[in-house]
Amino acid sequence: MRTLIELLYLLSGILFIMGLRGMSHPETARQGMFYAEFGMLIAIIGTLMQHEIVQYDWIVAGLAIGSILGLAMGLWVPMTAMPQRTALSHAFGAAAAALVGVSEFHRLGGHLEPFKMGALSFEVLLGSLTTTGSLIAFGKLQGILPGQPLTFKGQNIFNMTLLAVTVGCFVSLFIFPHAMAAFYLMLALALAFGVLLVIPIGSADMPVVMSLLNSYAGLASAATGFALGNNVLIIAGTLDGFSGFILSILMCKAMNRSMTNVLFGAFGSVTADASTASAGGEMREIGLEDAATQLAYARQVVFVPGYGMATAQAQHVIRELADTLEERGVTVKYAIHPVAGRMPGHMNVLLAEANVPYSELYELEQINPDFPSTDVAVIVGANDVVNPDARDNPGSPIAGMPILEVDHAKLAIVLKRGKGRGFSGLENPLFFKEKTAMLYGDAKETLTNLVQAVLKL
Ligand code: NAP
Repeated sequence: MRTLIELLYLLSGILFIMGLRGMSHPETARQGMFYAEFGMLIAIIGTLMQHEIVQYDWIVAGLAIGSILGLAMGLWVPMTAMPQRTALSHAFGAAAAALVGVSEFHRLGGHLEPFKMGALSFEVLLGSLTTTGSLIAFGKLQGILPGQPLTFKGQNIFNMTLLAVTVGCFVSLFIFPHAMAAFYLMLALALAFGVLLVIPIGSADMPVVMSLLNSYAGLASAATGFALGNNVLIIAGTLDGFSGFILSILMCKAMNRSMTNVLFGAFGSVTADASTASAGGEMREIGLEDAATQLAYARQVVFVPGYGMATAQAQHVIRELADTLEERGVTVKYAIHPVAGRMPGHMNVLLAEANVPYSELYELEQINPDFPSTDVAVIVGANDVVNPDARDNPGSPIAGMPILEVDHAKLAIVLKRGKGRGFSGLENPLFFKEKTAMLYGDAKETLTNLVQAVLKL
């Protein structure tokens, strides 16, 4: 039976790796998800076959409750709320790891060799801070807590001192594995540290924080694997831990920010001065018919989707407009910024759902040289990712973030509902430029009307 369980764990580990591989490209992402889900099912079956299980009642009850909640969340949580849903899942996963650590401490406490005690303490420490950190991230993203960074004087020093005491408790448990007071002090401080780590970070940086917390939750699971001698937890936890960490680094790179700046920079507490530094003047509006004419008679049109496309669920109608234009001989491209929307790959997933051909999707470095020869760039609910201040204004809080240079196109038509700012809370000078025209309204509705207007030409 032991060998069979280990074989099942090995198989699920292979499926997890195949899943990650699949998810690295939009074309194979669905298949990757299927591999990962299948791997998880096999890991659960293997775990249920463990001979240490003497009673299945509580397990079945937990399985039923978890499955019902998971199914409900999968079916009813909208795509736009996916970041906060993910934050909640991280909190649950990390809480599970921390609780396993606490129960193992009570079951075996004091009789553990230093390495296992270290793994167990590490699991409780990371699990606890990830639980509260993820709950705060959930609260900020859901709008239950204020999205702005909450800061106070001497915050970083206070946090570092708290972390040092927590690590002190962790180290002391190697020497005194019976020390219940040190164990619970470490747990309480880690819970507090999770809160303190996330409150000074603004909502705009929450996706990076979440992917970092995801990485912590993964490492906590790997530590659980070492403490319990469970191979599948070690494999899955390590994969989760490192892929989350790599993703955090990639997101920071795409925003031209350092991890230290994201974690300790209190980004989002933007002053009015900084936000309006180089913006000013009048915004020019364009009528629907005029916009349709510009598009219909263009040689090349580039669509730039952003968070507003996701909220409006306008991906299908963008494709409809693109098809209509292509039938008229217009070349259509889509420019994808790595942090457009609210999570990595957000735009790719939505456009793939609308069956936009992958060959028409262009990354930032590929499309930027194309803008000067583009007749119309259509910005659909994007804001920060096309903010020229990031390039031109060294004083801007987003200075240095790579942008899609739509201001180099012959005309930029911006589709948005009103004068709402992007997630960073900054004013966008693009909207005041001479070659920019604003087309106000909900993205889906406006695009639908544009399709009709182009068809009439
Ligand atoms: P954005 O800067 O948040 O701007 C979205 C714009 O869409 C808003 O200005 C809003 O203006 C408009 N909008 C909202 N609903 C709309 C609707 N129904 N129809 C039409 N327009 C609508 O979005 P973004 O340009 O995609 O930038 C993403 C931001 O998230 C960046 O700051 C990025 O750094 C941050 N971020 C993303 C990730 C990631 O992984 N993707 C990670 C970390 C941070 P109105 O209210 O006027 O309509």
